[in-house]
Amino acid sequence: MTNAWSILPDEWKALLKERGMRAFRADQILQALYRDWISDWDQATTLPKDFREDLKREFPITPAEEVAADRSDDGTVKLLLKMADGNLVETVVIPAFSRDGGELTRLTQCVSSQIGCAMGCAFCASGARGVVRSLLAHEIVAEVMAARKYGTLTNLVVMGMGEPFANYDETMRALKLINAGRGPNLGARHITLSTCGVVPGFKKLAAEGLQFELSVSLHAPNDELRDELMPVNRRWPIAELLAACRDYTLATKRVITFEYTVIKGVNDSRACAEELARQVKKVPMAKVNLIPLSPVDHRPDFKTPDEATLLTFLDVLMKNRVQTMLRRSRGKDKNAACGQLRLRTLERDA
Ligand code: SAH
Repeated sequence: MTNAWSILPDEWKALLKERGMRAFRADQILQALYRDWISDWDQATTLPKDFREDLKREFPITPAEEVAADRSDDGTVKLLLKMADGNLVETVVIPAFSRDGGELTRLTQCVSSQIGCAMGCAFCASGARGVVRSLLAHEIVAEVMAARKYGTLTNLVVMGMGEPFANYDETMRALKLINAGRGPNLGARHITLSTCGVVPGFKKLAAEGLQFELSVSLHAPNDELRDELMPVNRRWPIAELLAACRDYTLATKRVITFEYTVIKGVNDSRACAEELARQVKKVPMAKVNLIPLSPVDHRPDFKTPDEATLLTFLDVLMKNRVQTMLRRSRGKDKNAACGQLRLRTLERDA
């Protein structure tokens, strides 16, 4: 048994043949899956009934069940999905509108790669209870399928719960599928992976020769502070991480974006900004995204910095010629921080 949503378009023919099934039907199968977007083989009415029964047995489709959908005032929709084993997964759909506010210019989905997270970053709700398990490729695809009713995606980011490089194979399979021309066909440059700095992942990703975008969560400019905020730093300290980033950029010619969540009084000083600029410059072409902290229940001591501090931080980076974007968190009124909706649901139900 192989889940239909984990099979790359080019693999179908061989798999059907192996099972003594009609390989020439691969094209019809792909059309049913990724043009008609079926979520049950019975909806594939172009296929004969007995063949559909074979497909159900050999290549089941397992949609995720939507158990909650929270819409924010800014249009962000946060979905809580239930997987076949009952585990809860979060995914968020984030619309962007033209400056005059009228037109939808982008629809970005943020997917989870794991249930919970083992990385234990201090400010992140996803890791507050550790990791339950990694998601399988078809479950990541199921997140995308579940969000389809909210609109046609233009971008996908793997920035939900979990660490994609700690679930490398299944995450990559899902992304390759979503990117596949005869699959959902979302362009590689519209797909972004984000890692907290699991160093072996960089070499693997570079070797794939794909055009996916890569973000790296840095959040601190030195080991002393990063050790405190991100336990992963004790395994792969900043010097090693930046060396891996540099090698990745030189090998792939792709720009890395560093994510820096700004926490009041923790990593928001002018000195931090100066040090960050020096570090980031070790990686050719690298950019920085500043993200004001989204408060989390388990760390009430972590607060969002005020506007003036953010602007000073930004100014220091720009004066040091680091290309920087100040991001605004979205969906604030709806448990927007990574892993927060699931955590609050688990706590409510406990
Ligand atoms: N494990 C991956 C992807 C998931 S987290 C990674 O660490 O990159 C996606 C991004 O959200 C990361 O940059 C993470 O640090 C950030 N994040 C997590 N909790 C946050 C919070 N409370 N406020 C702001 N950003 C947060």
